Amino acid sequence: MSEFELEVNSEDAEVGQICSMYWLTNEDGSFAYTVKAVGERFGMPASRVSKFVADSCVARSASRCCSECGQGFTYRSRAEWTSGVRFWSGRCGACVEREKRVQEEERERIDAVKRAAVNSKFAVEEDGLAPRVDSLDLPAAFALAALFEDAEEISAGISIPTVDRVDRLTPTPDYDFKLLELLVDQRLVQVHPCSPLDSFVWNKDGTLSDSYYPALASYYMSGSGSLGNRVKQYLANLSPLLSRESWPDHWVEQFSSFWFDLAVSECKAYLVYMLQRHGLNFTPGRKTDDVLRHALRWYSIGQVYYFIWRAARDSAAYKMRDGVPAKQAANSAITRISADVERAYAQGWDVSVYRRDSRLPLSTLSHILFSRALKLEDPMAYSPIDLPMRRVGLELAWKKINADTFERLIFQLLTEAEGYENVDWLMHTNAPDHGRDVSAIRLRRDPLSGHTAQRVAIQCKHWLGRPVRAVDVNQSIVSLSHWQNPPFDVLVIATSGRFTSDAVAWVERHNSSGMRPIIEIWNDARLEVLLNERPHLIAGYELR
Ligand SMILES: [Zn+2]
Repeated sequence: MSEFELEVNSEDAEVGQICSMYWLTNEDGSFAYTVKAVGERFGMPASRVSKFVADSCVARSASRCCSECGQGFTYRSRAEWTSGVRFWSGRCGACVEREKRVQEEERERIDAVKRAAVNSKFAVEEDGLAPRVDSLDLPAAFALAALFEDAEEISAGISIPTVDRVDRLTPTPDYDFKLLELLVDQRLVQVHPCSPLDSFVWNKDGTLSDSYYPALASYYMSGSGSLGNRVKQYLANLSPLLSRESWPDHWVEQFSSFWFDLAVSECKAYLVYMLQRHGLNFTPGRKTDDVLRHALRWYSIGQVYYFIWRAARDSAAYKMRDGVPAKQAANSAITRISADVERAYAQGWDVSVYRRDSRLPLSTLSHILFSRALKLEDPMAYSPIDLPMRRVGLELAWKKINADTFERLIFQLLTEAEGYENVDWLMHTNAPDHGRDVSAIRLRRDPLSGHTAQRVAIQCKHWLGRPVRAVDVNQSIVSLSHWQNPPFDVLVIATSGRFTSDAVAWVERHNSSGMRPIIEIWNDARLEVLLNERPHLIAGYELR
């Protein structure tokens, strides 16, 4: 019996004969005729025979068959047959296809069960509480708007998973995570059941757990009515409050800490990106946060970019020159930034403001805060603590005046400044330094509530020998606490010298804790800018 059964695709008898002769085998399985013999019998060059047979028929093997359905495998040529070991113990295409289909159906069935579980557990809430813009914290209010906007387009009610966005939600994944967590914890948004199944955590037995991956999920806004309208309504309510001048008081107080979080995230994204461009992989940790936060107290985002740019370049050079491992080189960037920032501040460097890198586009949250709320012309050059560095040409000869004269100068500055009224001396009866402070009423114009008045105390520190430290700031607060009737809203510490970084940090922490009074700090450079706009004071006090 021959090994092969033929399926000839021609009615021509001669074609059938050629194929039969070509594929005919002996008892031992060897081919009965050589290809040359087949060619000679039918007057065909030997070189054409295989091609002719391959075009004309399919040979099905009797011995080599699918391990599943038992169908013989098919061959087009002897060469295919001899090299056809890959089918030797395998299965035929049809069986493989069938199994795939069965698996596919099984997967679909499981997915349907999973989707049903998700639909029941994460059913869209129809009568929830809609977020009230003015009762939200600043980060939550802005993050909520950012979540439902991507690439300048407002979603129809269901957010795009953070990982699939065109524009980033925030500059870094860790800040994305933090804000998503905040929105979910405050029940401002909820996970939508149409989220991809793999955004949920499934138990080993296939049941749905309570966990999910925040960056993979889609969200909808709490409230009632259609999901699209909820988003529209929220944005409509946010719109009149968005601009900095219209912020509710608690947003003004939360601003500094929100800005720092976002600015740190901006700088971290740039650091990772720059190191990557130098072939150094870097995962930022706690220390990175601390160093960047510290730098941002003195410098704008664009200026910190400058420190990052230098550090990335030098770290790459360090790896090349000293052959240290990439990880060590990348980590050294943080130490470099920290040291550079300290040196720059101590030596009063003129630090350039770097531009945003176009390959690192602005996140939606940054866009909302920088452009729409603060309307900053140059976010890269902006700093909320706004503690300026001394500018060349503006320096004043502070040594020429004594502490009393300094206090009188501040007094007169306030008397002449617009927006300050009832400027007066504040006598300390039991202050350790018997210093005299200045008090004033500061009027702020608010487009919604009209004028608001703040009681402001200005403490003067004509300290040329040493900077104002955290303990000094704390002492100032304590000495001011004697005035409780009415209490002060704002304490300004004005010095002809500098503040230590710890003092600045202390003030930042104090202000973000929401405690009264809010502290403002004016250093030598700020006073020099203010006084240079008032040359008669410089002349009158012989400061130049
Ligand atoms: Zn089969």
